[in-house]
Amino acid sequence: MMGELPIRRLIEACAATVAAHVEELTALDQAIGDGDHGLNMQRGLKAVAEAAEEIAALPFGKALHKAGMTLVMKVGGASGPLYGSLFMAMGKAGDEAPAAPARLAEVFAAGVEAVKARGKSDAGAKTMLDVLVPVQAALAEGGDIAAVRAAADGGLAATGPLRATKGRAAFLGERSIGHLDPGARSSALLVHAVCDVLEEE
Ligand code: ADP
Ligand code: MG
Repeated sequence: MMGELPIRRLIEACAATVAAHVEELTALDQAIGDGDHGLNMQRGLKAVAEAAEEIAALPFGKALHKAGMTLVMKVGGASGPLYGSLFMAMGKAGDEAPAAPARLAEVFAAGVEAVKARGKSDAGAKTMLDVLVPVQAALAEGGDIAAVRAAADGGLAATGPLRATKGRAAFLGERSIGHLDPGARSSALLVHAVCDVLEEE
């Protein structure tokens, strides 16, 4: 599934996909939130991309941790600390780039657990966790890139019929039903960007 993880290219791919989908993320957050998710993510990923050289020079874990710190500082909103927790916890899970898919599953699981703890949430609440948890499950099952992509897409689609119970969208109650969750969409975009880079390897 992978050799050495190319940190620089991963950062560039994530920043590019977010930049290309700002309006879509804005529209999703306008429907069930306050409309800032696109600009929040764009600001955060731009800051990570600007620090790409410095980040890529670090050992793998420290690189993820620094990317997470940058996201906390720059994204803002609810999603900033949540994405920050994801990357910082993955970074703390080890300094060596996971050479084996099993190790990647373990590192990603540490990140997802941190998001759950930080957000006092889990899959089913119509959040980014509806994408992150199935992606983690696909990795844990030894799924290939296609399985990881399918898990992200399935998790995103599943947020449509859900009623939000966490985050700003929860204030809408029943009226949150029928809309995709913006954070689930941004998570799916990031998962696909990482898959694109790994496929090119
Ligand atoms: P804000 O809600 O503060 O405006 P954003 O719009 O940037 O922040 O991010 C909203 C996204 O954050 C939601 O779509 C959801 O995916 C995610 N989110 C919000 N609260 C939680 C939570 N408690 N647990 C997990 N994810 C959450
Ligand atoms: Mg918002």
